[in-house]
Amino acid sequence: MTVEALSSAYQTLLSAIEAVEPRIAAATRAELADQRSSLKLIASENYASLPVLATMGTWLSDKYAEGTVGHRFYAGCQNLDTVESVAAEHARELFGADYAYVQPHSGIDANLVAFWSILAHHVETPALAEHGVKGVNDLSDADWEVLRRRFGDQRLLGMSLDAGGHLTHGFRPNVSGKMFHQRSYGTDPETQLLDYDAVAASAREFKPLILVAGYSAYPRRVNFAKMREIADEVGAVLMVDMAHFAGLVAGKVFTGDEDPVPHAHLVTTTTHKSLRGPRGGMVLATKEYAADVDRGCPMVLGGPLGNVMAAKAVALAEARTPAFQDYAQAVVDNAQALADGLLRRGATLVTGGTDNHLVLIDVRNFGLTGRQAEAALLDAGIVTNRNAVPGDPNGAWYTTGVRLGTPALTSRGFTTSDMGAVSDMIADVLTSATARPTKEGKPGKARYDLSADVVETTRAAAAELLGTRPLYPGFTL
Ligand SMILES: *Cc1c(COP(=O)(O)O)cnc(C)c1O
Repeated sequence: MTVEALSSAYQTLLSAIEAVEPRIAAATRAELADQRSSLKLIASENYASLPVLATMGTWLSDKYAEGTVGHRFYAGCQNLDTVESVAAEHARELFGADYAYVQPHSGIDANLVAFWSILAHHVETPALAEHGVKGVNDLSDADWEVLRRRFGDQRLLGMSLDAGGHLTHGFRPNVSGKMFHQRSYGTDPETQLLDYDAVAASAREFKPLILVAGYSAYPRRVNFAKMREIADEVGAVLMVDMAHFAGLVAGKVFTGDEDPVPHAHLVTTTTHKSLRGPRGGMVLATKEYAADVDRGCPMVLGGPLGNVMAAKAVALAEARTPAFQDYAQAVVDNAQALADGLLRRGATLVTGGTDNHLVLIDVRNFGLTGRQAEAALLDAGIVTNRNAVPGDPNGAWYTTGVRLGTPALTSRGFTTSDMGAVSDMIADVLTSATARPTKEGKPGKARYDLSADVVETTRAAAAELLGTRPLYPGFTL
């Protein structure tokens, strides 16, 4: 199908939507215009292909299919069985995993499935054996009460939020911090790099049931073989959350010790970040945990989203092509070029640079907070997000960092020389922006001044660059 034909198909679909609720059709059109006209450096976002997007808009959404392939709690699931099997097959073969569970609706859901699978495997199953019963419904109320408390008495060790970990890795605002006794490991105060000896020391002392590796804002690769050694030494389950960097694993940029799949007991991920699929999640597991993960529904999840599993299958098929491997390599090359450009302009980068898809600028030496930097960049048409840096003096709201990522721009075809230009735009804005003091004359954390000239020049430069790298070339709405 040509891109022209696809454009007119979408036009027709939007007119049908317009007839029912014009505001939704308008917002849908406006979002495409916004996506096309902004320099998107949000490290967790990407652009899914038109076939992936199209796959989501179908009647596969209308079917209930609780259960697993061939074992559903609803009748008539043969097509959903096909969809789920194809998606899982692609996931297993792409990542070299024993087992893939493609039902989770998001990254957080994937983590919940993984946590409860581990609890089922290591807490529930032994308890059932101890009582000589097959299922939880066969336990007496008193025994169930003991088991229920035991679930809540387990330990989890994950990366701290300010070092780049994720809320679901045991933090109190999230359910993971409520269901586990939690401890976190950070990074070395000097190098800001992961200190495996310190992780090991913490694991020996804390003896977690689950060791979580993976991150949302750590600009370096992780040695998962070392993490597995640590887990094995203390008898912990190694769970790797590759939500951010799954595309780099899929694209064979992270291999050997940097590929989590051969080393972890369970790997969780999103499908919409560097993997460039629909919004969703996935769990990969070794044979040992497969049966537990398979009970994600009804344990944690309700009915799977058939249309989204279908789109996962399409995105995973795309990720199995040589073109996707080139893409993944370009994501990393572009991040490197972005970091080099920023360093040349005097920026301070957490860990001094990057070797994955993201860059974390410590904006202190520009005299700004993360919040001011994020807002000033947005004024100039550059979309980023503020982020804590290790030991952040401004806390998680104002922060001291700005996180940048290259997966989205690389999908538009940005090259390393384009990234050089982007780093100049960012540096121009951060250099020109100044923190505005509060009325009481104290250093302000939110307000700032930025010259209209810089805004205009940067917007013009960004528009020109974006014009040469169109999103969905030839697609018109
Ligand atoms: C983004 C992210 C998640 C959550 O993904 P959602 O799809 O937003 O639920 C989980 N873990 C990590 C490490 C992430 O970066």
